[in-house]
Amino acid sequence: MIPSAFAYERAQSVRDAVRLLESHQGEAKILSGGHSLIPLLKLRLTSPSVLIDIGGLSELRGISAGEDQVVVGALTTHAEVANSPVIKEKLPLLAEAARQIGDLQVRNRGTVGGSLAHADPASDLPAVALALDAVLTLEGPDGRNEIPIGDFILGPLLTALGGSDVVVSISFPIPKGRWKGAYEKYPHPASGYAVVGVAAVLAVDGGGLIREARVGITGAADTPYRAREVEAALIGKPADEETIRQAAEQADAEGSFSGDLFASADYRRHLCKVYARRALARALP
Ligand SMILES: Cc1cc2nc3c(=O)[nH]c(=O)nc-3n(C[C@H](O)[C@H](O)[C@H](O)COP(=O)(O)OP(=O)(O)OC[C@H]3O[C@@H](n4cnc5c(N)ncnc54)[C@H](O)[C@@H]3O)c2cc1C
Repeated sequence: MIPSAFAYERAQSVRDAVRLLESHQGEAKILSGGHSLIPLLKLRLTSPSVLIDIGGLSELRGISAGEDQVVVGALTTHAEVANSPVIKEKLPLLAEAARQIGDLQVRNRGTVGGSLAHADPASDLPAVALALDAVLTLEGPDGRNEIPIGDFILGPLLTALGGSDVVVSISFPIPKGRWKGAYEKYPHPASGYAVVGVAAVLAVDGGGLIREARVGITGAADTPYRAREVEAALIGKPADEETIRQAAEQADAEGSFSGDLFASADYRRHLCKVYARRALARALP
């Protein structure tokens, strides 16, 4: 299909993008990689009168790492994340998840900021962002502010982004001590999107007990969520297969499940438990 007519503006800076969004008062949309927005435009599921292209803003690109965190610019592509030596070393589960997004073309165009801003309930990165407690930096008319991922994604295709806000970067804290992470996904055979995707981070203390556990689940429910019941069943327990088997049974305790042509709600609940077990088993430090 052919999109409705729209005007095209090329932002010269993040500030300029915010100014353009403000001046078009809810009629404009940011264009990053276009791999979610363009299909929506073609189906006429959205019809903004202006597209503000931020694709040329080098200030939004790149990966930097310190002792405590890895910061990824919003325009950094999935391929750049998947292939980054820094991310592979510091946060391998993030590289692992990015590698599983769509196909090569999607990974070369789609961006981390675009993926989180779009908040597709079946996209991969929200699960990893939840398991790593990521924080987004936004720029809006009043300057910059930070928002944890758990407060950012509010529902299917719904976020806390204000009408004139731009996602600038995403900070992924590096867990402390002895830890490991993993991402396990059952991809939809046609699109590659997650029917269910589970990201798990486990850290253990000197005695081999689980000190920290974070589990993010995407695809299965209407909104990606932290599996808090699973986490509670892990903390303070021995880091072994039996603990994981029991904890994974709680993977469907949160989240609002519904079925579609491909997978019923019951099947999604079942997949949640299976993929939680797999991700946790690989995340045993
Ligand atoms: C065939 C196909 C298969 C795919 N498979 C997968 C998959 O397996 N897993 C997966 O997770 N994803 C998948 N995707 C989606 C892909 O990851 C997209 O890149 C991503 O969802 C959106 O990123 P984008 O840069 O293309 O954003 P765009 O399409 O440009 O924008 C998406 C939305 O976010 C807003 N936006 C974008 N950037 C910003 C910003 N910096 N600040 C504020 N708002 C912003 C836009 O206004 C728009 O509303 C697939 C896409 C396609 C076409």
